[in-house]
Amino acid sequence: MTDLIVGIDLGTTNSEIAAFLNGKVEVLGPEADKMLPSCVGFSSAGTLLVGREARHQQLLYPNLTIRSIKRKMGSTEPVKFADKEFTPQEISSLILRQLVQWAEQAFHQPIRRAVITVPAYFSDAQRNATREAGELAGLEVVRILNEPTAASLAYGFGDAAHHTAMVYDLGGGTFDVSIVSVEGDVTEVLASHGNNQLGGDDFDNLVLERLEREFQNKHGIKLQDGHPVAHARLWWAAEEAKKKLSFEPYVRVREEALVSQDGKPLHLDVELSREEYEEMIRPLIESTFDSVSKALQDARKGPSDIDAILLVGGSTRTPLISRRLRELTTLEPRQDIHPDLCVALGAGVLASRLAGHGVERVLVDVCPFSFGPSYLGERGGFP
Ligand code: AMP
Repeated sequence: MTDLIVGIDLGTTNSEIAAFLNGKVEVLGPEADKMLPSCVGFSSAGTLLVGREARHQQLLYPNLTIRSIKRKMGSTEPVKFADKEFTPQEISSLILRQLVQWAEQAFHQPIRRAVITVPAYFSDAQRNATREAGELAGLEVVRILNEPTAASLAYGFGDAAHHTAMVYDLGGGTFDVSIVSVEGDVTEVLASHGNNQLGGDDFDNLVLERLEREFQNKHGIKLQDGHPVAHARLWWAAEEAKKKLSFEPYVRVREEALVSQDGKPLHLDVELSREEYEEMIRPLIESTFDSVSKALQDARKGPSDIDAILLVGGSTRTPLISRRLRELTTLEPRQDIHPDLCVALGAGVLASRLAGHGVERVLVDVCPFSFGPSYLGERGGFP
């Protein structure tokens, strides 16, 4: 008899849930991309919104919407929005509850137990807040698992061979890189560095500035001031353009009737090349490579000691990142597991093993020392 345990990636930008279904670990959910935007809000009529609907309204109703709550986990300061006060745990529990509902729909039964992932650098307070968010969502949190360890589990490292992997994780709002040692059943995070204020959102902002500058040069109108709908439209267009530039050398951004002047609609029509885009984001990408060097140094490893690079997070689809990693290590970075779903899948692998599917392995998940001595000796939040 097996138990039902789910694995959850509670992310800064998006969250996902995975579990053992139909003989394998699967990411679950009704949306095509299986991702739940980590956004919570209230509609102007006072209805609670979790996920996509909350994300859709965030630029128009910033006072009614909360995003990136993960950055506040562990803080005791109340989060104020929509004239109410919440703890970060309460907001996160709403996201968890929605994910659990998705899984309950897939299993047609209640779900009570979960593995939840956290960044390797999370402190005890941040880990405890995550556990508490799970409890508020009605879950017993059976493990708090480090995200880079989850990524290495998703890639199935756990054979007899020894691996030293680099997990490069760039999402919407955070970046971290970890050096992970996997020896048989034992996975250890040797070092981790990052910047929890850097991510794909910053790339969007650079493209947005470029588009708004173009509009201002052509029509003399500053969309940032007093044109919230046009600004919100361009923000979406900027993100779409950025994503396309991961696969195409040029992108054309056409937005009709952004604003009108003297009764005449004004349009934006710009072509952006990948080359120009890469120059815009290069300083940000280079700053991630400072963290890569620090993590390698702290782990006492050189680039040639690394035998696999695992790409995690939606922004790692940016070709400049793989190119720079290839230059550094001569390895081909791996992204054969969907970079947005990799951590959830890894949490799902551990959850499935704990639930009795397949062979359970011992997992020692030591916290990195590069975030300060308070982490020394801690075992990845294991109970
Ligand atoms: P995550 O936090 O892992 O869900 O990643 C979300 C971030 O990935 C957002 O900033 C997205 O805009 C970004 N992203 C998604 N797809 C792509 C793509 N094809 N190219 C570049 N960035 C992407």
